[in-house]
Amino acid sequence: MRINHALRIAAGVAALALTVTACGGGSNKTATQHAADGKLTIGIKFDQPGLGLLNKDGSYSGFDVDVAKYVAGQLNVKPENITFKESPSAQRETLIQNGQVDFIVATYSITDARKQKVDFAGPYFVTGQSLLVRSDNTDITGPESLNGGKKLCSVKGSTPAQNVQDKYAKEVQLQQYDTYSLCVEALKSGAVDAVTTDDIILRGYAAQSPGALKVVGKTFSTENYGIGLKKGDSDSRGKINDAIQSMISTGAWKAALEKNFAGTGYEIPAPPQVSAN
Ligand code: GLU
Repeated sequence: MRINHALRIAAGVAALALTVTACGGGSNKTATQHAADGKLTIGIKFDQPGLGLLNKDGSYSGFDVDVAKYVAGQLNVKPENITFKESPSAQRETLIQNGQVDFIVATYSITDARKQKVDFAGPYFVTGQSLLVRSDNTDITGPESLNGGKKLCSVKGSTPAQNVQDKYAKEVQLQQYDTYSLCVEALKSGAVDAVTTDDIILRGYAAQSPGALKVVGKTFSTENYGIGLKKGDSDSRGKINDAIQSMISTGAWKAALEKNFAGTGYEIPAPPQVSAN
């Protein structure tokens, strides 16, 4: 009798766990179908100034946020009907595959490995990997100068971490955190010597800590930012590509970059060819 009772409780707990999982999982509707219902859930970064940032007052800002809002607008979804969901680098494919987001605009490089799991619209921006160091540092000038056991921070599941591991890991001590803001904290405290990721991301952090941090060297990779969405959803992908194209041709693209990087000295590059991925 007692065993029976315990079993029943166990079954109940298992059923509850299943229900919770089901609720936590997303919907099967496509991005376009959700947009037709008037709502979208869009993945962004919450800790990348100039790109995707959750501000203290609860608002969101950055170029990726503006791209997300523009695309949503082209799909007839008002900004107030967008739910922004934090999408750390290592979780992006899973968030899309599980339907927890309709699409992701989060400094998300288009790569062949990721294309096995998700599709990309775009590219909507092109940048490259670079290095961030403390302003008083003089010996780190590029990836080669990380030789000799320098401590380098990057983020799990990101292309720069992979690139460094493939090309430079023998000589550097790579530390991988969950977010770039944690890497920047570690850099400021002296726990690491440099942070690596895309130049535009590092510019945002350097601008936030004037006099304390600087971006060094030339970029040493090419990162094509795409808008990640469910694999096979070519209808939404086509509509998002049209939206990106319109953002570029109307000048909204350039205006958004100018607004988000004003006063940082960041030189805005030429827009990319959409649909080249
Ligand atoms: N663009 C690179 C990537 O997608 C680095 C930036 C990031 O981790 O969000 O992995």
